[in-house]
This record gives sequence, C-alpha cells and structure tokens, in this order.
Amino acid sequence: MHAEIIAIGTELTTGAKLDTNSQWLSLELQAQGIPVHYHVTVADDLDANLNVFRSAVERSDIVLISGGLGPTLDDLTRDVLARLTDTRLVLHEPSLAIIRGMFARRNREMPPRNVVQAMFPIGAEPIPNRRGTAPGIYMEIPRAGRSPCRLAAMPGVPSEMQVMFQDDVLPRITPAQAAGLVIRNARVNCFGLGESAAEQLLGDVTARGRDPEVGITVHEATITLRIVASAASVAAALEKIAQTKKTIYERMGEYAFGEEGDELEHVVVRMLQEQSQTLAIAESATGGLLAHRVTSVAGHELCFRGGLVAVDEAAANARLGQSGIAPSGTAHERACLLAEACRRHFGADWALSVGQRSRNTDTENASEAPVVLLSLAGPDGARAVELNVAGDPAIVKSRVAKSALNLLRLKLLKSQISESK
Ligand code: ATP
Ligand code: MG
Repeated sequence: MHAEIIAIGTELTTGAKLDTNSQWLSLELQAQGIPVHYHVTVADDLDANLNVFRSAVERSDIVLISGGLGPTLDDLTRDVLARLTDTRLVLHEPSLAIIRGMFARRNREMPPRNVVQAMFPIGAEPIPNRRGTAPGIYMEIPRAGRSPCRLAAMPGVPSEMQVMFQDDVLPRITPAQAAGLVIRNARVNCFGLGESAAEQLLGDVTARGRDPEVGITVHEATITLRIVASAASVAAALEKIAQTKKTIYERMGEYAFGEEGDELEHVVVRMLQEQSQTLAIAESATGGLLAHRVTSVAGHELCFRGGLVAVDEAAANARLGQSGIAPSGTAHERACLLAEACRRHFGADWALSVGQRSRNTDTENASEAPVVLLSLAGPDGARAVELNVAGDPAIVKSRVAKSALNLLRLKLLKSQISESK
C-alpha cells in the first residue's frame, strides 16, 4: 500500500508560494508507516487536474489532495472529482447549514457563491472543517480487480488541512481503520537533547511494529513522540496510550515537557501562574523572539513583567541603568549581572537574559564555535550557561529562545518538587 500527494494551485506551480503541505503530509504518513511514492503539484486547470487525479487513482492506493476547495472559480477540486467519477455535484444540506452558521457567528451574510462549498460528488463523504468554511471530501473510488482507492481532498490553508488530516482523514486511511479498529493518537513533547540521544533513551519504544507505534519527529530542536494506538474500543486504545506514555516519561524524565500542542512557553507560563511568580527578559541573540513566545500565550499578562531587546550586553546594561559595570569578570559573571539587573529593573521574581552570538566568551575558556550565554536570575541568585549555536541560522534563534525557556522550566520544576515535599 502506498500513497500519493497532490498539491493544487497556480501559485505553487508559478513558484509564488512554496508547497509545504506535501512535506507536512509526507512526514505524517511516514509516522504511520505509510510510504509515499509520488508528490505532484498542479496548476488550477481543469484538464491538468483531471489528468493528475486519473493517474493518481490508478497508481496509488491512498491519494491526499490539498487546495482548490474554496468558493472561487479557480477552485476546481470538487468539479474534477465529479468528472473523474462520472457523476455530478449535489447539495449536502447539513454542510450548507454549518457554513451558514460560520458566517452568522461572524455577523456576516454568506455570499451566494459559498453554496458551492456544500456541493459534493455523488458517493462522496463530507469531512468537517473545524478551522474554516470549506469541508473536505472523502471518496473511495472503485478500481477493477483491486481494492478501491481512498482519496481525501482537503483545503489548501495549512492550519485547516492539518487539523482535518489528523482528526478526520488519518482514521480513514490507516490499515487498522480498514480492519475496523479504533485509532487514537497522542503526542509527548521533549526538549534538551538530540534526536539520536532521545532514540537511545527510548530504546525499543520507537521500534517499528511496536504496539502502539511511536514515531519521532524533530522541529526546531523540539522532539515530538507521536503515539498511534489501535484497538477494538476507544477505552482499550486510550489504555494503550496511557501505558506507553508512562514508559516515555520514565525514560525521558525531565526532557519531557508537555503534551499535544504544548510548546515550552505554554508550560513555563502555566508554571509561573501556578507558583504566582513573574518573569522579565533581556535579550540580544533572539531579537525579541523570547518575549514574543511568552506573550503569545494566553494569560501571560499575569506573569510577564516586560522585557528589552538590545544589540548586545553593554547596550542592555546601559538601558537597565547599569552603564557603570566594569568589563571585568568572566563572561559568565557578566551575564549573571545582566540577568540580575533585569530582574531588579522590572521587579520580577525571575529574569532571563540572552547574550549576543559570539565566538569568544570566557577569557580563560576561549572557544571557536559560536556560543550564546543564557542566564537565569531568581530569588536564590543567578546562573549562566553557555549554548553552542553552530548550525542553521534560521533555526538558531528559535533554539536559543527555547533553551532559555527550558532553563526556567527546569528551575521552576525543582521549586515545584521541593514545595510539594
Ligand atoms: P480557500 O477556501 O482559502 O480558497 P482552498 O482549499 O481553495 O482554500 P487554496 O485556494 O488552494 O485552498 O489555498 C488557500 C491558501 O492556502 C493559499 O493562499 C496558500 O497560501 C495556502 N496554500 C495552499 N496550498 C498550499 C500548499 N500546498 N502549501 C502551503 N500553503 C498552501
Ligand atoms: Mg482557494
């Protein structure tokens, strides 16, 4: 069994927009053990689409399509599916009611052209869209002498497609589903170690063919373990997930920081709130990204005291009224002084400082690899750590911001543990 992914849109074939949906879908399918044999990108053109769909259904058992479900004339996917299966489009009233409802909730009249988004080829199954208006389309297309081709057409907007795929498409295309089993997923997110180190700690947990299967993916230094459990009942699937999570937590220890969509900032803000603590930030190498992450979490107002972005440590010190600081002492000591000044300035319980990228930190310990100094100041003093930031500059900022948040998370975790003793 193998899959094919089709990305639709003239903006993709002209190069105006990069097709990231196919990449995302491929990674997801890989985590399910479903090989992908073809990626096809096609313009908003009826004949071209028909050609591509025909060959896909002929040569692939699973076909995943993104794009072309909108209400405009260049959105052709539903027409192409009707032609492909030699049927016509019919109105699906429940979908129309949902679309009308979405407009009503936004206090807007539904434009007449949106009715087309509730039209489906005969024999197709509408897939709910929890993020936008256009429902997806699921079809099982008969093939002479072979199992039917399972085809799902999803919206082009990445966030809508991703939710639809995870919640409603994946359960329809996995082999377990075909065998009448229920499938449940869970994610455990980890930070602070590399992928191979994680695999080593996890041991047989990520072995192929394990039940339930655990896939490992890495995104900007965050390691996500996705558990996919299939069983005869929902309760049995959830029980399998619970067992596997327990094993993962045992093996990953403090590296595991959250579940499902949790990022480090969510966890840190949650912990600060639980412990009635506040945070301030002084950052150089992350250019505001650290404060951005923290302020993206709902409820951060309760624990975030403020921050500053400076080109370097000296500028940060000057802004914090510390211009008199002598450039003596080690780089680590200076980083600690900065974090402490930031903590005092904003009147926060904790302060994180992120230094600038440099090659030469400690006078005694000159290092060739680029490093960033992170420092955390709190009620019991300050501590600085050096972070090696060699690697893809596009990812470095994000990794540094996450490392800073992780430093605070680990510290808050310790005070949580000692408090509960
Ligand atoms: P809409 O209802 O918004 O028109 P649609 O299903 O018709 O949705 P498209 O019009 O093809 O989808 O794309 C909507 C938006 O989603 C595009 O503006 C584009 O930015 C983004 N998008 C579409 N396809 C992809 C893709 N393969 N990768 C990344 N982004 C995409
Ligand atoms: Mg569109």
